[in-house]
This record gives sequence, structure tokens and C-alpha cells, in this order.
Amino acid sequence: MKTISILGSTGSIGTQTLDVVLRSEGKFQVAGITGNKNIKLLEGQTRMFAPKFVAVADENLYNDLKLAVSDTNTKVLCGIDGLCEVAAYSKNDIVVSSTVGISGLKPTLAAISAGHDIALANKETLVTAGNLVTDLIKEKGVKLLPVDSEHSAIFQCLECGHKPSKLILTASGGPFFGKTKKDLEKVTLKDALKHPNWSMGQKITIDSATMMNKGLEIIEAKWLFDMELDDIEVVVHRESIIHSMIKLSDGSILAQMGEPDMKLPISVALYYPEREIIKNTDFDFLKHPNLSFYNPDEETFSCLKLAKQALKTGGTMPCFLNGANEAAVALFLDEKIKFTDIPELISNAMKKHTPIVNYTLDDVVKTDLSAREIVLDLIGG
Ligand code: NAD
Ligand code: MG
Repeated sequence: MKTISILGSTGSIGTQTLDVVLRSEGKFQVAGITGNKNIKLLEGQTRMFAPKFVAVADENLYNDLKLAVSDTNTKVLCGIDGLCEVAAYSKNDIVVSSTVGISGLKPTLAAISAGHDIALANKETLVTAGNLVTDLIKEKGVKLLPVDSEHSAIFQCLECGHKPSKLILTASGGPFFGKTKKDLEKVTLKDALKHPNWSMGQKITIDSATMMNKGLEIIEAKWLFDMELDDIEVVVHRESIIHSMIKLSDGSILAQMGEPDMKLPISVALYYPEREIIKNTDFDFLKHPNLSFYNPDEETFSCLKLAKQALKTGGTMPCFLNGANEAAVALFLDEKIKFTDIPELISNAMKKHTPIVNYTLDDVVKTDLSAREIVLDLIGG
């Protein structure tokens, strides 16, 4: 039995992770769960999984949560220190990092420092501090198991044991595939929240619509698989059946396929190096007679270009890009800016950042804050 803690247990990945735990019939024991504001769900999860710890990131909700679970044996924690305590708990075998945004960084570093393997959904951890995270992973000798479906696909293809000459990330293209820049001027929040193939948290759903998600995934792939930007390609594949591919030196392409369902990459990470056994999992090829592939349109979806540019610049620039994107997406979710303002704001903000090459965690935190401030300044907020 593996002991796991889940950072962000109330989210889309977090709840699906708990589904995988439930259907495992005792292969995993949940030691810690965390959320940001959803006390009701945290209470329900505490009653169902009887973890040792439950933590709420929003400190103002500590008393409410404490009251809600006062009749259980679960210890209640709060704030970033609470999340870090859950992450570092000595009995964890694996920590699922599935909070959204840079909030995942410090607890993930705490889990690695404590010597725990990581199932990483929170791509922002590698985008903001790739160097620091991968150095610490090496130092502690822990495993970094990707949960993002594309990276899980590549991870599975790499089990062939050969060094890839290229990584090929597939992208659904999001809800606005084929649209022009002019069309995008008119899209609403409701349109942007309608992803064609995946049901996910709001922030990543908007990132998928702008294609920033694919940009962040290129940066994530660089750090996970130690590949250069020029060797990471993106291909739009509308059906989301091929989750990603690797190309070998002899021209052979290996692909990982399946229905779009995050429980698969989650279970690949949790069960690693074993595989979950599920009955009745036949994939019906006849339901998918056509798989289509297109070039991404980086002019219309310029977030993809900005992310590549940030990776090329290096240092703290990817962290800055991420902070500016988080701020711009939050403004769009609040309906304070237009969809097309998102890349515009990020691009204008990036011009104001001088990247630090050999950065520390303190530099990362400061860069993130400065990106958010600059975006707010730019909209006159
Ligand atoms: P979500 O919004 O559904 O859930 C986010 C979780 O983080 C919730 O538990 C929430 O309470 C918690 N959280 C929010 N703000 C927080 C804060 N400031 N501090 C601490 N905790 C906070 O998001 P999601 O879709 O589950 O995505 C989580 C991560 O996984 C993201 O980094 C996303 O890019 C990545 N990811 C998600 C999917 C997917 O299918 N949902 C796929 C690939 C990668
Ligand atoms: Mg993905």
C-alpha cells in the first residue's frame, strides 16, 4: 500500500485522483488533503478518506474547517505552511501536486525536500522554477512522475528506453481552433470556458483557449525530459486521442493513445512502476476513423509564441510569463478584460522584465509578484 497526499484535492485533478484511490480498493492510503476555499468538499473528503491532515490554503477559513471536522481525528492545518506540512509528512510515499498556479511551487519543493516522489499535475511548478525543482529532484533522488496527459504520454513512450530526437506534443486547439484574430475579439467568457474535449479547472480551460497551456507544456517538457526548445514540436490534433508522441533517431514515431480521461495519467503516476488493472477498457478504433493533424496558428494564438520566447530568453522570464498570465486570466475570469487582451498584456509586461539568470526561490517569488503588479499597472488598476 502506498501512502499519498493530495495538494488540491478539491479540484478537477484532485477529485479524479480520489476516484482512482477509491477504485484501487485499498492500494492507496490518503494521508493528507488540501483545498483553497471549498470547506464543504474538504469536510466530505475528510469523512470519506479519514486522512491524518486536512489543510485549507485560505487562512480565513481555518476556524470553519476546524468546526466542520471537529468530530473526526483529522488534524486541521491552514495557509502555505499547512500545505507544506502536508507535503512533507514523513509517511508520504507520493505527493500529488495538483493545486493551480504558482501556489503549487512551495509545497512541491517541501515534498521533494522531504524525499517524496511527486505526481506532478501543477505545470506552473516547473514553468516558474524549472532549474530549482530539477536540481532538488536530483539531489534528493526522488521521482518526478508527470500527470499532464501529454507528458504522461511521452513518459510512457520513453519506457522504450531510447533517447528521442524530438518530442511531439499534441494540442486539441481549444474551442477557438480555426478562428481569426478578428473573431477572437468577440469571444465571451462563456465561449472560452467551453473546452471541446476535456473538463478541467477554469484557469487551465482559459489557458487551453489561448493556447498558453501548450506554451506552458513546452516549458514543462523541457524540464521533465531535458530537451531543447527546437526539439519540442506542437501539432494540433482535434480529437485528443493521441496524447503525445516521441520521434526516435531512425524516424520511428511512438504515440500513446486512449480516450481523453485524466484518470489514466493519474493512475500511471500513482501505480508506477506497476499498471492499474481495469476490466472492460477496450478502445474502439471504429469510433475514431479519422485522426486529424494541423499546424498551430501562432500568429492568432500568440500566447504560444510568447511562451517559446520566454523559454528561449530563460532565467526568470518563464516565471514572469506565468505570473503575467495568471494575472491576466484572473482579470478575464472577472470579466474585466477581453480575451484578446490576455496575450497583449503578457507581451507588454514581458518587455518590462529584466530576467535573472541564476535565480533563487526568492527571485522567483519576487518575479511572480512583479509580473502581477505590472499587468495591473498596464490596465490602470
Ligand atoms: P482546479 O481549479 O479544478 O483545482 C485547483 C485546486 O487547487 C483546488 O483544489 C483548489 O482548492 C486549489 N487551489 C486554488 N488556489 C489555491 C491557492 N492559492 N493555494 C492553494 N491551493 C489552491 O484546477 P485543475 O484543473 O485540477 O488543475 C490543477 C493543476 O493541474 C493545474 O496546474 C493544471 O494546469 C494542471 N492540469 C490539469 C488538468 C485537468 O484536466 N484538470 C490536466 C493537466 C494539467
Ligand atoms: Mg495537458
